[in-house]
Amino acid sequence: MILIGTRTKELGRTALPGSCPHCKEDGQLELFILAKYFTLYGAAVFPVEKLGIAGCNACQTTFVKEEMPPQMRTEAGLLMNNYSQPFYSYALGIVVAIIVLASFLMW
Ligand SMILES: [Zn+2]
Repeated sequence: MILIGTRTKELGRTALPGSCPHCKEDGQLELFILAKYFTLYGAAVFPVEKLGIAGCNACQTTFVKEEMPPQMRTEAGLLMNNYSQPFYSYALGIVVAIIVLASFLMW
């Protein structure tokens, strides 16, 4: 039995300019940048997507990309470009690919 799934890991967080769409407080938004990984037996094999979730420190409301107003979504997208998947996040996937490939070549 092969256990597969996904897991998220925080890549970073940064202040998001603008006011909260919910409580209208200014300067209270924070953007969390998360990486979603494909996992094999609980170990992260390779990253599948990068997620941005905004949170308001005043009212504790969170906003996923689809819930953000257009300007906030654009701002979040630009900030997310500053965070990339660490190079070693691909390492296990490459090792698994080499093992699978080698096992086929052995036959
Ligand atoms: Zn708020």
